[in-house]
Amino acid sequence: MQVHDKLYINGKWVDATSESVIEVINPTNEKIVGKIPVGSKSDVDDAVHAATNAFKIWSKSSIEDRIEKLNLLSQKIKEKTELLAKTITSEVGTPIEYSRMAMVGTPRVVSRSYAKILETYEWEENVRNSLIVKEPIGVCAFITPWNFPLHQIIGKVAPAIAAGCTMILKPSKEAPLNAFILAEIIDEIDLPPGVFNLVSGHGAEIGEYLAKHPGIDMISFTGSTDAGKNVSRAASDSIKRVTLELGGKSANVALEDCNPQIVAKMAINGCFQNSGQTCSALTRLIIPKKLSKEISDIIVERVSRYSTGDPMDEKTKCGPMVSSKQQHSVTEYIKTGIEEGGKLIAGGLGMPEHLDTGFFVKPTVFTDIKTNMTIWKEEIFGPVLVIATYENEDEALLLANDSIYGLSGAVWSNDKEKAINFAKQMKTGQVSVNGGHFNVNAPFGGYKMSGNGRELGIHGLEEFLEIKSIQM
Ligand code: NAD
Repeated sequence: MQVHDKLYINGKWVDATSESVIEVINPTNEKIVGKIPVGSKSDVDDAVHAATNAFKIWSKSSIEDRIEKLNLLSQKIKEKTELLAKTITSEVGTPIEYSRMAMVGTPRVVSRSYAKILETYEWEENVRNSLIVKEPIGVCAFITPWNFPLHQIIGKVAPAIAAGCTMILKPSKEAPLNAFILAEIIDEIDLPPGVFNLVSGHGAEIGEYLAKHPGIDMISFTGSTDAGKNVSRAASDSIKRVTLELGGKSANVALEDCNPQIVAKMAINGCFQNSGQTCSALTRLIIPKKLSKEISDIIVERVSRYSTGDPMDEKTKCGPMVSSKQQHSVTEYIKTGIEEGGKLIAGGLGMPEHLDTGFFVKPTVFTDIKTNMTIWKEEIFGPVLVIATYENEDEALLLANDSIYGLSGAVWSNDKEKAINFAKQMKTGQVSVNGGHFNVNAPFGGYKMSGNGRELGIHGLEEFLEIKSIQM
């Protein structure tokens, strides 16, 4: 069990003002795996004070210094890969192999990518009689979710360090243990005290307080669309910068000349990775009517072999939902899908037959989906794939864009140019063409109700900068 009884403020581990604790539950066996303190508004004030003082130093730090710290951060994450991966698997339920690769490997690479970006980044440019300078925005607050906990944190912490900003992190209460390990790492790399502060607690209390706080210049939020709206509202009085990475219901479109076998195979991972608890999951599969039977048959066969169970077992592909609340919510969506007339071709209600403990659901697939169905429209955040068919590619595009969200997407075609042209017409922040893989240097973020702003790469760095024009 990992028990943390202190917050990390101003370069020190300090007692929280309240004695309350949050228990972290392992969703696989429903046992307590850790405890963390509940921070209060007064702890947030201390952290803001520390970050404000540290900004005076860190905003003036040399680029070489920032590069060194980012490389050290990457190296220390690598050294602690096994600890971090096992911790995240025990709090989120992510299959261990995927934890090592995506939950720890990606943050390691993202930290290093910002060191690399700094090597050539231009902080000043001349435009006729003006000198344009880029400056760190100031004190930042980060509110993060549980599903890719360390990745979401590093996607904010690394560019903020690179920009010369200081920060206060409030991790999710479901998966906060990795954030405490990160604070230990940051302590070891000797950032000046107050550059990074960790205050754990409840979103509705300290999360909203951070969003409102007049001493904070920017809030970067990742989580549900509803909580993002609350954060925006709370931040509005102080006109601070708000970036939001929110939900999604992304379309995976197979054009008529696709390879049905590849589409079917990739559709499963695209939707079910991290047990379906992925904001950019490709949850709406859109296929030509004439290929519908062929693709669905392959999917049914592969889902029957998709191993669900203990995420610490290297062979497991699908772990539990993060919490009983999430298990209940996914189950309700499956029930609604059946009631509204979706045709269940794999999975369904209840736990997988061989399991009796843990917050599991069955990997589930629906066909015969109509656009007025709840499971077509709403983010389910579990391993539930919905399949709709089209008669022609104009209709495919209408279906792809038929969402309040626009975070991710995919297109499949034997003609790459045609696929790129289709991708350009999709109203979404990222599109994978023929399985093009995730790129940590490419901007990530949403259109429409999937959010504002971009993370990762140079675009992610620039979210943390103010721009000043000096006329001469
Ligand atoms: P959530 O909104 O419940 O919580 C996210 C964070 O917000 C947590 O730290 C929580 O404590 C805090 N919070 C909750 N209410 C708040 C409030 N009123 N004010 C301030 N903070 C508040 O989301 P979750 O369940 O942790 O994560 C799942 C959601 O996150 C999904 O909708 C998913 O799509 C989204 N998500 C988006 C991205 C992205 O990059 N777009 C990435 C991961 C997750």
